[in-house]
Amino acid sequence: MTRTSLAETGSTDVIVIGAGFAGLYMHHRLREMGLNAVGIEAADDVGGTWWWNRYPGARCDIRSLDYSYSFDPELEQDWDWSEKYATQPEILSYANHVAERFDLRRDVRFSTRMTSARWNETTNEWVVETDQGDRWTAQFLVMAVGALSAAKQPELADIDSFAGPTYYTASWPHEGVDFTGQRVAAIGTGSSGIQSIPLIAKQADQLTVFQRTPNFAVPAQNGPLDPEVVATLKRRYREHRAEQRVSYGGVVNPSSEQSAHEVPADERTQRFDAIWEEGMLFGFLGSFNDVMIDPSANAIVADYLRDRIRSIVSDPATAEALCPTTYPVGAKRLCLDTDYFETFNRSNVSLVDLQSTPITRLVPSGIQTTESLYEFDTIVFATGFDAMTGPLLAPEIVGKDGETLRDAWSAGPRTYLGLTTHGFPNMFMITAPGSPSVMTNMLVSIEQHVEWSTEAIAWMAERGVQQIDPDLEAQDAWVDHVNEVANFTLFPKGNSWYLGANVPGKPRVFMPYIAGVGPYREICDGVANDNYRGFTFA
Ligand code: NAP
Repeated sequence: MTRTSLAETGSTDVIVIGAGFAGLYMHHRLREMGLNAVGIEAADDVGGTWWWNRYPGARCDIRSLDYSYSFDPELEQDWDWSEKYATQPEILSYANHVAERFDLRRDVRFSTRMTSARWNETTNEWVVETDQGDRWTAQFLVMAVGALSAAKQPELADIDSFAGPTYYTASWPHEGVDFTGQRVAAIGTGSSGIQSIPLIAKQADQLTVFQRTPNFAVPAQNGPLDPEVVATLKRRYREHRAEQRVSYGGVVNPSSEQSAHEVPADERTQRFDAIWEEGMLFGFLGSFNDVMIDPSANAIVADYLRDRIRSIVSDPATAEALCPTTYPVGAKRLCLDTDYFETFNRSNVSLVDLQSTPITRLVPSGIQTTESLYEFDTIVFATGFDAMTGPLLAPEIVGKDGETLRDAWSAGPRTYLGLTTHGFPNMFMITAPGSPSVMTNMLVSIEQHVEWSTEAIAWMAERGVQQIDPDLEAQDAWVDHVNEVANFTLFPKGNSWYLGANVPGKPRVFMPYIAGVGPYREICDGVANDNYRGFTFA
């Protein structure tokens, strides 16, 4: 669907940037409200993260029956997921199905990247420009750009000097990559690395994994969905969706009321074994009520997960190198794996621990560390994202008084409710910093944000109000609250992308709001019901 049209100029009601799950639902809602919208999407079709991240093994770490839209009861009855955790191709098919079913491609300009958005104070409009020379004006701008969509190049000296092909998990070739007979390097052991490494290992002649920080990972225990389980859930899907909406993470997981210290060690192990066997990724964080608050409770979970690694990986030195020891479980995003640790028992796989032998530079034949030169045919980078702020700060966004978003957020993102930011009127952000977003089932968070934003737009239209802008005091109080909640927990205690710690020079601010989607929804609804407390209308 590569774009072939000439540059366009025009005016509309709402400009929506991004056609992933957030952008698609936004188009649907706006159309239902009788508003016109123009969508701008850099990819050549819908799907967002699932359009770009096509690396081997890419799949969702939220169960497929949960990771789907709830806005249409017929849609959820009609669609059938094949596995407990859906693969990237299946999720992309779902996005395509939704786009077709609701005719959502019609308003979107694909293969087009927004380059700038400027608030015109005279006309009270956003003026958006694209790399195709388009110029659109609209009363509202919706940034539905995703939280993990700005891939990050690793900071490695002479990165372009490697003579062979290089691949990024975040922008994998659509035709796939055949590693047969090759010596492959994989750099990065976060979720993307952990999912792709076992499959690359099966195909490549040799695979060398370069690990800077080990991660905790829990086996997906994936498999085909039991038709009985699906039928039972479909019979009560509406209630299930209602439970998701008031839950902590947008999924209905049991969470314990007990402290880890209240329970005898053998009972704790039984509970952990059950979570492990169930493949319930975030079950470990809710296994006791103090796991993410009390370092000693967290250490109990960490010890269990490290023992699991030691029991899987045959070589003791490799097992120790794969054991995370420098941060609490959950402070870096937990990973869902299939045979990740088992892969290190293969004779064609080896691990290079960059903590003891860092990479010094890339060379035409491979990777030079402080200790050795490793020669490769191909390098795979699974090196992550400039998370949450990256996609919002990439284009030039200029608000009131000529202030840029980059300047406004130079010390870290500042939002009111994670939905709006002071000085940038009529701009809504979907799953931005200051909202639960990446700590949750994104589909639940996306729907809540789209619904809240469109209800605000409708409220304004009913009253003939042209402009909405959050007050600085309300925003400051929200940012303080987000930090206060985060600092009550262990979540900020790792060098994670939650904090921006993976991007050199990025301000260290814990970005997601971690009180949970249920409480957050109540706060957002309370603000709306109180005539949008904390906002100024013009
Ligand atoms: P990530 O978690 O940020 O992992 C990036 C990896 O690359 C880390 O191991 C990092 O090491 C390493 N790295 C970065 N720069 C490096 C350098 N210069 N030298 C050596 N190593 C370097 O990124 P990701 O794996 O793409 O995952 C990001 C997030 O996307 C996940 O946390 C998750 O929220 C989401 N995701 C979800 C799924 C899923 O299961 N549904 C799959 C993929 C991604 P350090 O840890 O030392 O920085």
